[in-house]
Amino acid sequence: MKLLEGAEAARGTASGMAAVTTCLMALVKTGDHVVASRALFGGCRYVVEDYLPRWGVSTSLVDGKDPASFSRAMRANTKAVFIETPTNPTLELVDIRAVADIAHDHGALLVVDNVFATPMLQKPLQLGADLVVYSATKHIDGQGRALGGIILGTADVIEGDIHTIIRQTGPSMSPFNAWVLLKGLETLPIRVAKMTESAGKIANFLSGNQKLARLYYPGHASHPQFDLAEKQMAGGSTLLAMEMAGGRDAAFALADALALIATSNNLGDAKSIISHPATTTHARLSDEVRAGLGITGGILRLSVGLEDANDLIADLSFALDQV
Ligand SMILES: *Cc1c(COP(=O)(O)O)cnc(C)c1O
Repeated sequence: MKLLEGAEAARGTASGMAAVTTCLMALVKTGDHVVASRALFGGCRYVVEDYLPRWGVSTSLVDGKDPASFSRAMRANTKAVFIETPTNPTLELVDIRAVADIAHDHGALLVVDNVFATPMLQKPLQLGADLVVYSATKHIDGQGRALGGIILGTADVIEGDIHTIIRQTGPSMSPFNAWVLLKGLETLPIRVAKMTESAGKIANFLSGNQKLARLYYPGHASHPQFDLAEKQMAGGSTLLAMEMAGGRDAAFALADALALIATSNNLGDAKSIISHPATTTHARLSDEVRAGLGITGGILRLSVGLEDANDLIADLSFALDQV
């Protein structure tokens, strides 16, 4: 992972959430402040919004699409900025270079959750980030077999506080999982390349379909941040999202009519998986917060797997006809 990422040091953790929590706990203490983009994976949002404040760390959630919103939120005691890009599930992008500059101007470190992009499509450290965190449970394993996480960054932080916290508090990766995940890493480049290629074909197929209110794919010209995607990513992502014009009923009808694509919540898997964020990963949030994130009942997230792209398109085509 150090070689893929261009990082000085790394540590494995028991899960992606162990990586995120350990990383943030290492950077802050009571009285500090954290700025984060508000479109975060559910667990990450919980750590930032609910958990850190319990320990006297105040947090501000901002609109990740707008670098100026990070500038406005920075305070004298801001120690860390935490972002995820592309975001789950609506694949919004955060300008890593711009936010890294803002964090550094204020003496804070930038932590990037790079799970959706993978190290094959985006290298945050090269764009100015200080630390990168992964859920290895996703593309790195790639077959839904094991949980794991990774924290990468400069040797001073990783071999200092992060090493000490892992050693003393126990969120370590198990040796067996490390072995499984290393086997996954051997095929990561080929899998991500194939999944990204298929996702691009599916985005082209879905684009303009009358049953969709909107398509979300960073590699498609219809994405409002397509230019930023071209600038900071080496591909359009293995995930895409769609908003069904018929809302929640249409989303459920589509998912139920799919035969090849499974309904589940994992992502980055060899099997294509569709999920309904409003009733699963983001069910904990209030209707109002969900609406602010654009996670309506009509949104479906598709993680594109390794099946033949034509078979996936045929499955989607049939299911769309049933809606
Ligand atoms: C899954 C995921 C996590 C958490 O990873 P686990 O291994 O499930 O703990 C964090 N961030 C993102 C973006 C994820 O998709």
